[in-house]
Amino acid sequence: MVVLPQGVRICFQSGSEILRAEARHAVYAIPMGYAPSLIEQLDSLDPEKLKAIQQLSYRHYQVMNFHLQGHPWHDSYGLWIRDDATYSTHGVTDLIEGRWFDFEGNKKPRLDDRGVLTLYNPLPEEYLSVGLTEKVVIERAETAAIQLEELVNQLLQKRNEPPLKILAIEINRWPYSIHVVKPGHLTQASPVLSRRIRDLYFASNNLGTPAVEEALYRGSVAAKNILAREDSKSEDGKGPNLD
Ligand SMILES: Cc1cc2nc3c(=O)[nH]c(=O)nc-3n(C[C@H](O)[C@H](O)[C@H](O)COP(=O)(O)OP(=O)(O)OC[C@H]3O[C@@H](n4cnc5c(N)ncnc54)[C@H](O)[C@@H]3O)c2cc1C
Repeated sequence: MVVLPQGVRICFQSGSEILRAEARHAVYAIPMGYAPSLIEQLDSLDPEKLKAIQQLSYRHYQVMNFHLQGHPWHDSYGLWIRDDATYSTHGVTDLIEGRWFDFEGNKKPRLDDRGVLTLYNPLPEEYLSVGLTEKVVIERAETAAIQLEELVNQLLQKRNEPPLKILAIEINRWPYSIHVVKPGHLTQASPVLSRRIRDLYFASNNLGTPAVEEALYRGSVAAKNILAREDSKSEDGKGPNLD
């Protein structure tokens, strides 16, 4: 991306072709961590923004679909499974009943024999340097399987039902997918991260909390700011700010 004196130029790859587009305004809606390598001369355009980006920290996420015999747990769509007071980053946090939508929750009878429980595992900081190698993700999946069995088997035992039977684990790697919100992120980092550079606007959930609502909100604010600036034909270099 090149921030021009007026407008923004974006180069992108389509198949084997490198294409170039120019627009009066553009919205950067990619995780902020990539901005220094994507926006040309970010260091001189907005050194404070670059510094704020460099202070962001990210974590990998591993999400695992446990394919099970039967439907041992379908009491709720989601289940938070951490209540250990330590909140060590070495454990899974929550599970989703993966076939909830197939059966509209519990409206339709579960006549087949294949359940899915999806486990969410944000990975500790040290995994950033180790990388999500096959060895690492398999180890994490095995640990998660133990945690899942411990938890769900307790619940099943109370109901006099047989223990879980795990048939397969499908592993999804989401590198650098969640930013860790530190104290001061919303009050100090966010205003710097979200301010525009000339005609390049910023969205993405990294400007606030790591949630879908944040991403939608930020995209909407960026679009409204562009429209408001177009309407006012403001040429003062600042433009209105609807934040
Ligand atoms: C495991 C996990 C579970 C989550 N669960 C929840 C939840 O339950 N509720 C909730 O609210 N949020 C949840 N989130 C967070 C949610 O996914 C994010 O808040 C949301 O997706 C952020 O949207 P975004 O548009 O900012 O970024 P993204 O959804 O990350 O979109 C960024 C896009 O930019 C693209 N991109 C990257 N690099 C380039 C490039 N060089 N050129 C062009 N495009 C590029 C990517 O392919 C991607 O499509 C979860 C996240 C994870 C990882």
